[in-house]
Amino acid sequence: MQTLVLNASYEPLAVVSVRRAVILVLTEKAVMEHADDERPIRSPSRELPTPLVVRLLKFVRVPYRRKLPWSRRGVLDRDRHRCAYCAGKATTIDHVLPVSRGGDERGWLNTVAACVPCNQAKADRTPDEARLRLLVTPYEPKGHAALVLAIGVTAAERMPQWLAAAAAAG
Ligand SMILES: [Zn+2]
Repeated sequence: MQTLVLNASYEPLAVVSVRRAVILVLTEKAVMEHADDERPIRSPSRELPTPLVVRLLKFVRVPYRRKLPWSRRGVLDRDRHRCAYCAGKATTIDHVLPVSRGGDERGWLNTVAACVPCNQAKADRTPDEARLRLLVTPYEPKGHAALVLAIGVTAAERMPQWLAAAAAAG
């Protein structure tokens, strides 16, 4: 089952999984416009009708054809908060080619999520020099990927297990 997401301006924006729609509602990024009361999603503490149509509370400028502006937050979201060198929990941004050596400071292709130890170990060196291997290839989010980032990939990762089970069952 899928849910239609409307922009704050009521224009259709995307079709997402019910689970992502529920997250948007629970994180107060969206409100339900139409819901199926006969197919509630249950948890031990609360019950929600299955969202059929949700509407975002904040207007999202959809970068379908445009580039998504670079941001630290965007890089962390793109890389799902996983360190590009060890796959541990990342809270920092590493410049693959250090800025001090001519690397692009605000470019999607030169930045990856990194944990503090890897970032400190790498310091002002290239991955090769630091004997670190990039586990991912940095890319520039476009089209659908940009839209997914705009409506919150990180929220999906913090989704409670009971919601995942409900979504799988639905
Ligand atoms: Zn790491």
